[in-house]
Amino acid sequence: MKAAVYQGSQQLIVEDIPIPEPGPGEILVKVTYSAICGTDVHAFLYDIAPPGAVMGHEFSGSVVATGSAVDRWKIGDRVVGGGGKPPPGMEAPLRRQDQYNYRLEGFADDRKRGYAEYTLLTEWAPTAIPENVTDLQASLVEPCAVVVRAVRLSQMKLGDTVAVLGAGPIGLLCMQAAQAAGARKVIVSEPSEARRNVALSLGADAVVDPTNEDPVEAIISLTDGSGPHVVYECAAAKPTLQTAFDVVRKQGNVMLVALAWEEVPLLPVDWAGKEVIFNTTFGSEAYDWTIAMNLISQGKVNVDPLILDADIIDIEDIQQAFEALCQPSTQVQMVVKL
Ligand SMILES: [Zn+2]
Repeated sequence: MKAAVYQGSQQLIVEDIPIPEPGPGEILVKVTYSAICGTDVHAFLYDIAPPGAVMGHEFSGSVVATGSAVDRWKIGDRVVGGGGKPPPGMEAPLRRQDQYNYRLEGFADDRKRGYAEYTLLTEWAPTAIPENVTDLQASLVEPCAVVVRAVRLSQMKLGDTVAVLGAGPIGLLCMQAAQAAGARKVIVSEPSEARRNVALSLGADAVVDPTNEDPVEAIISLTDGSGPHVVYECAAAKPTLQTAFDVVRKQGNVMLVALAWEEVPLLPVDWAGKEVIFNTTFGSEAYDWTIAMNLISQGKVNVDPLILDADIIDIEDIQQAFEALCQPSTQVQMVVKL
């Protein structure tokens, strides 16, 4: 089977490797779509994915073989590669350790995952795809679960005004999750015009171009001078965390969703007087996936405008796609078709 194997030094090479055999309690999934996640782009850019790894954790496909002692799935079942409830002791490292350093420990994983034609999953790991959700749509359930968790942990309340900084896939999903959770007004700040337009088409109440106007002033004036109740930082650009603190209202919530891998400048005195509440979120748990799949199935989160035909690529073009995604991009989401 074809698999994009990480070689180290920002090199992904498509190799022909054996199709794995499912062992006891495992299923073999034929992958149909595998969305390229910013996490994988970071692992590539900062060269921290172990050589030999096949990345890709945002994928959908169908069960084509089951190992012994598998009773939860049958051949033909459509699944996404996560969202199952791990048995005790099988949780991700974050959930097991008191001190977890994602940057140093997060990629010690050379599994063969979604950038391959086939992948193995433990029986408990996947989630079933409902009939009215396509495989392509389902490939975005994982990032949707991430924003579901962000909104749930942010303590956003019915009727709150919300700002979303950054309209990449996470920002565009986050604004919709906030709306589904009852936000009254959602303002999106994003430098790319193409992405701002997608935000508007998905129901953003207002968009701000931070390259053309001061995003703090613009967002505050769009919220009757008070600032939003909740700000979701979904950009991980140099100035956006400071922007989030500056723009949020007194005793408002800042939720850090994006992961900045470089130091970001902060000037606390500018916002400490507002008693800002700062929250973080990391990844997702099983229940977040259930909610995310439901939101997509019910049409409350629309993933279609995030994936244009031109952004669906062949696995042979994956190196080029990763290189492009390391640069500032106007693209929303890229998906590998397998
Ligand atoms: Zn992801």
